[in-house]
Amino acid sequence: MASPNHHERTIRKILIANRGEIARRVIRTCRQMNINTVAVYSDADADAPFVREADETVHIGPAQAKSSYLDMDKIIEAALATGADAIHPGYGFLSENATFAEKCEQSGIIFIGPRAETIRLMGSKIEARKHMQQAGVPVVPGWDGHLESVEHALSVAEDLGYPLMLKASAGGGGIGMQRVENAEQLKKIFASTMQRAQSFFGDSTVFLEKWIEQPRHIEVQIACDRHGNVVHLFERECSVQRRNQKVIEESPSPFLDETQRKDLCETAVRGARQIGYENVGTMEFIFDGNSQNFYFLEMNTRLQVEHPVTEEITGLDLVEWQIRVAGGEPLPLSQNEVSKSGHAIECRLYAEDPRTFMPSPGTITTLTFPAQQEGVRFDLAVEEGSRVSPFYDPMIGKLIVHGRDRMQAIAKMEQVIAELQVKGITTNLELLAQVMQNHDFRRGEYSTQLLDRMTGGI
Ligand code: ADP
Ligand code: ADP
Ligand code: MG
Repeated sequence: MASPNHHERTIRKILIANRGEIARRVIRTCRQMNINTVAVYSDADADAPFVREADETVHIGPAQAKSSYLDMDKIIEAALATGADAIHPGYGFLSENATFAEKCEQSGIIFIGPRAETIRLMGSKIEARKHMQQAGVPVVPGWDGHLESVEHALSVAEDLGYPLMLKASAGGGGIGMQRVENAEQLKKIFASTMQRAQSFFGDSTVFLEKWIEQPRHIEVQIACDRHGNVVHLFERECSVQRRNQKVIEESPSPFLDETQRKDLCETAVRGARQIGYENVGTMEFIFDGNSQNFYFLEMNTRLQVEHPVTEEITGLDLVEWQIRVAGGEPLPLSQNEVSKSGHAIECRLYAEDPRTFMPSPGTITTLTFPAQQEGVRFDLAVEEGSRVSPFYDPMIGKLIVHGRDRMQAIAKMEQVIAELQVKGITTNLELLAQVMQNHDFRRGEYSTQLLDRMTGGI
């Protein structure tokens, strides 16, 4: 459907509605594209590197995200005041908020992401499952209707068979889901899971999925333009997780052979086409390690934290693709022009206790990097002297390596971890080193249970 928005528009200034490493990442690409940048920041971030690196800055409020990075009107006001043509939402915060995308459009500002209606559709895991099934994309066996009451849930669960996963339809970030072993446990947790979903996501809707055995999380990077072009940029293996959230990602997945890879990537493209997706996005799948079947989990309608591993193996800049597509340009490459080489790994550096996974805010007194070298990239939020605030996600950066093959990438990562020094706060560096040395990880034979096994299941 032709609307004025579908014409090409030159983007000259972008406001970044985010903070930390992703704000710096977007600034980097904008510089290369000769696009001016506006950073918005809260009281807690006044001295942060991303604020210094932006061309213009707007203070938007106190440390609490609710009154700063999540305040839609303040952010749009800042964009209008600075004359920004577009807003890049990063990940987290407002990136998957359909209302925000709508408000941008109503203010004549380009939202760098998919259309609001797509965000809304995929924001409901239940709706997403329905649409994917229509495209012939296999979804995790489960129940897509409303679970009216605990009695209803119990009878659905009886039909599906335990173990199950009880999930918030609007959930994200690993929050709002729980494995259920039996009827007794379901009875116990049903109401509290709904309440948690309501308080975190403003929507109490929950549904049930079969628990997948020996689960592996493998996702496909998708890119689509307004002209009907859809390509995939291969997969990412994200099975090293804590609390259902990713800690280490790599590409290619050591689990897939070429036939499986092709099948998975083509299935993801089909799913994206089904919903008329625009911009970059990620189709997440879960693999049953026993049966080798894969099932759609959800779609993330934004740039992913782990996008650098895709950039490293393809040599592409995904933020550049996002900006071009949002301005109405066609995708820079067609599917047969996209290729990959070598192996990339990303480790998320968290300011947290590796045993309890509790955040450990504080001041970074020392930050020493290994010397710059080929195939090593640091996407960091912080520098020496930075204060890690307790108000936001404890991820303070990402260590990314690219090697000829998987073993070389692992060796590089081990070296980076050994040489990197972060003092003043507790980080998960030691745990990252242990994963690199773990026998199952090195063989590529691991499931999402790996970290739980290593840390004793906290
Ligand atoms: P990805 O899906 O890109 O791999 P995550 O699921 O880890 O990444 O989430 C991306 C970022 O957004 C993280 O920094 C996380 O803290 C944040 N995030 C994701 N979902 C939520 C949520 N529902 N509430 C708060 N923060 C979230
Ligand atoms: P979120 O929106 O929080 O990212 P997902 O549905 O993507 O939620 O699930 C997050 C993680 O939880 C997955 O990567 C996987 O490790 C685990 N998980 C989700 N559903 C299942 C399932 N049915 N069986 C086993 N593990 C699951
Ligand atoms: Mg997910």
